[in-house]
Amino acid sequence: MPVLHSVLRRKPLVLGASAVSVATVLVLTTTASGQSAPDAESAGAAPEGEAQDENNSEQVDDVLFAIHGGAGGLSRDEMGPGEEREFRTALTRALRAGHREISRDGSSTDAVESAITVLEDSPLFNAGKGAVFNTDAENALDASIMDGRTLDSGAVTGTRHIKNPISLSRQIMDNSDHVMLDGEGAELYAQHRGIDLVTQDYFFTEDRWESLRDAKDGKPDFDFGETNTVGAVGLDNDGNLAAGTSTGGLTNKPVGRIGDSPIIGAGTYADNDAAAVSATGTGELFIRQSVAHDISAQVEYADRSIEQSAGAAIDQTEEIGGEDTGGVIALDHDGSLALVFNTTSMYRGYVTEDGEIVVKLFGDE
Ligand code: ASP
Repeated sequence: MPVLHSVLRRKPLVLGASAVSVATVLVLTTTASGQSAPDAESAGAAPEGEAQDENNSEQVDDVLFAIHGGAGGLSRDEMGPGEEREFRTALTRALRAGHREISRDGSSTDAVESAITVLEDSPLFNAGKGAVFNTDAENALDASIMDGRTLDSGAVTGTRHIKNPISLSRQIMDNSDHVMLDGEGAELYAQHRGIDLVTQDYFFTEDRWESLRDAKDGKPDFDFGETNTVGAVGLDNDGNLAAGTSTGGLTNKPVGRIGDSPIIGAGTYADNDAAAVSATGTGELFIRQSVAHDISAQVEYADRSIEQSAGAAIDQTEEIGGEDTGGVIALDHDGSLALVFNTTSMYRGYVTEDGEIVVKLFGDE
C-alpha cells in the first residue's frame, strides 16, 4: 500500500478462478436484492399474516444527534478487542463533531455533514475512504442529505473521485436547483464548486479488496451485509431536523447499481413536522418500501411513536426480503430517537441534551 488501483483494475483475473464469471455476479446480485418473491420466502420471509422476528429496537428520549456505522457489521464474536476500540473511537469522534455544531448553534444540517465527513475519512466505514469495490474493482460512491426545515435535499450517485460525497450532496442542496447528480455530472459540479477530487487509489483498502476477492471466489461465508454504510440525524436548537447517509454500496455490486442511500425517501428523509431518518441495509428492499419516508409519514399521519414507525418499516423490508435486511436511526421532532435493526449488529451512537455520548455496536447492548 498504496497499490495503484488502476493496475489492479486491469487484472481482474487475479481475483480467483471463478472471478469474472458473469453468472457468479448475477447470482450474487439477485440474492442480495431479494427481488424475486420465491427467493424471499425461501430466504426466511415470514408468510403473510405471521409475526416477524423480533427486531433489535430501542427508543431514547431527549436526543440531539445520532449516527450509525452500518447494519450487518461484525458480531461480538468476530471482532477483536483492538478493532472494537477503533470502531468505538471513530463513532465517538463523529458524534463529537456533530454535537459540536449543534452546541455552538449551528444547524442540524451542519452537524450531519460534519459527522459524516469524519466517518467518510475513516477507512473503517463503507463510505469515503473505506468504500467497498464494485464488480469492476472500482469504488462508486453514493450519498444524500436533507434539511427538514425546507425539505431541500442533495444527493450524488456513482461518484468515483469525490473524497467526501456528503459535502458534494450538501453543495447540490444549497447551491443548485436540483436534487441528485450522477457520476460524471456530479464530478463536474464538484469542480465547479471548487471541491477537491481524488484519484481512485485513494479508496484502496486491503480489507475491502479481500471482501471483493471473497465475493468473486463465491466464498460461502461471504456476506453482502458486512458493509458499514454511515448515516446521521440531528435536531438543532431551532427545532430543525436533518438527515444524511453515505456509502460505497455493496461489495461486488454491478457497475451502475444504485442503492437506497442517495435516494430521498428510501435511505434518507427529514421533515420538521415528523422525523429525520437514515437507513442501512440491502438498499433494493429499502427503495421498494420507501423506508425513510414511510417512517416519517407514520409519525406525521398515523400518530405512531418513532420506535413503532421504525419497527413497522423494518418489518416491511422483511416481508419482501427475509431476515437481516438492515436497520434505521430515526429522530422525531421531539428528540425521541429510535434505533431499530434486524441484523446481529448495527454500529450506532447518540448524544443527549445533557451532552451524554453513548456508542453501541452489537445487538445485545
Ligand atoms: N444501503 C446500502 C446500499 O444498499 C448498503 C448498506 O447500508 O449497507 O447501498
